[in-house]
Amino acid sequence: MALIVQKYGGTSVGNAERIKNVARRVAQSQKNGDKVIVVVSAMSGETNRLIALAKEVATHPEPRELDVVVSTGEQVTIGLLCMALHDIGVKAKSYTGGQVRILTDSAHTKARILNIDEAPIRRDLDEGNVVVVAGFQGTDEHGNITTLGRGGSDTTAVAIAAALKADECQIYTDVDGVYTTDPRIVPEARKLDTITFEEMLELASLGSKVLQIRSVEFAGKYKVKLRVLSSFQDEGEGTLITVEENHTMEQPVISGIAFNRDEAKLTVLGVPDRPGVAYQILEPIADANIDVDMIIQNIGHDGATDFSFTVSRGDLDKAVKVLEANKAALGAKAIETDNTMAKVSIVGVGMRSHPGVASKMFRTLAEEGINIQMITTSEIKISVAIAEKYLELAVRVLHKAFGLEQG
Ligand code: ADP
Ligand code: ASP
Ligand code: MG
Repeated sequence: MALIVQKYGGTSVGNAERIKNVARRVAQSQKNGDKVIVVVSAMSGETNRLIALAKEVATHPEPRELDVVVSTGEQVTIGLLCMALHDIGVKAKSYTGGQVRILTDSAHTKARILNIDEAPIRRDLDEGNVVVVAGFQGTDEHGNITTLGRGGSDTTAVAIAAALKADECQIYTDVDGVYTTDPRIVPEARKLDTITFEEMLELASLGSKVLQIRSVEFAGKYKVKLRVLSSFQDEGEGTLITVEENHTMEQPVISGIAFNRDEAKLTVLGVPDRPGVAYQILEPIADANIDVDMIIQNIGHDGATDFSFTVSRGDLDKAVKVLEANKAALGAKAIETDNTMAKVSIVGVGMRSHPGVASKMFRTLAEEGINIQMITTSEIKISVAIAEKYLELAVRVLHKAFGLEQG
């Protein structure tokens, strides 16, 4: 008898019929002899609706209260799924994150899971129940409701699988696995049978929202067998996230392409070209809790230089305020911004042993007349910042250039 955690995302529980479909699937797994814990997201669109509602009543909703509001989406689905399971004769019990004691830190809207009390879940499973847990939420040590960041139900599922040492954590979604890139943008994208944790971590952190990055980190750390599958298909093995780097001769150099539209660029013009400038610019930005992504310092002319960096678009106004306050002290001439940037990244462990990947990427983009504004690299990825209007074109031509399309 296997212990399986199944997570169903927003689209998969998007209406009553789909919730009944999930109930049938869960019932089937139980009939096959498995013990099943189900983690569900809010119905599709619900979390967005709740966030928008909060912003209608307050310009900057207080994070603690925002969590109280947005966590309700998942509470609706756990109850509905249990009712649907009861309706077809399956014993099931629902739990919110707080009830099942998912303890998190107190970082509202982006909390981290610290501990899960497995005892109540085990007891219910042993009594023949399907246990249905609300994704995306927990409570901190003071009992405050917290949420785990967008896409956080994936992390709830993996954390429960880790805590209960489940045999497998299955992430059911609206695509049948992890693809070479988002199949909504490139219809020729190919489903991968396996992908390494390292690659999946990069793809997730660079914008592929098929798995929340923390869920991949968790699965890697606690050796959870993690698989992405479709909730709309009965057949198929989905994509298994693997530990080993099963390098074969046919292993492609690039495994996938990720992209992110959420980039804004700030340029500080005409700062004195002397040691400590980067530090002077970026320290107040860090102090304001703004994450900096890409950075470029141009070659100096006549003792002055331009310094650019990117932040997420939501942080742009805040970053400008910080720079303006600091402008005189920096001796900067002006500050320019551009909030129409995007980032495209190619990812693959095969890059380590194959030189020339970067030049191929740059040539491919140049041939389309796409200007590269910034570049960052690591051992297994190359990212470029480009104008957002070229994003889809860039992803498509790179996908083709690296031979990622269906064979
Ligand atoms: P859920 O609501 O089930 O959590 P998400 O919308 O969070 O689903 O994630 C699934 C979506 O991720 C897909 O519909 C797809 O558009 C997108 N996606 C982005 N990159 C990829 C990729 N490389 N492979 C598969 N899906 C991807
Ligand atoms: N409902 C939350 C969101 O939309 C969590 C999730 O779906 O994973 O981000
Ligand atoms: Mg998701």
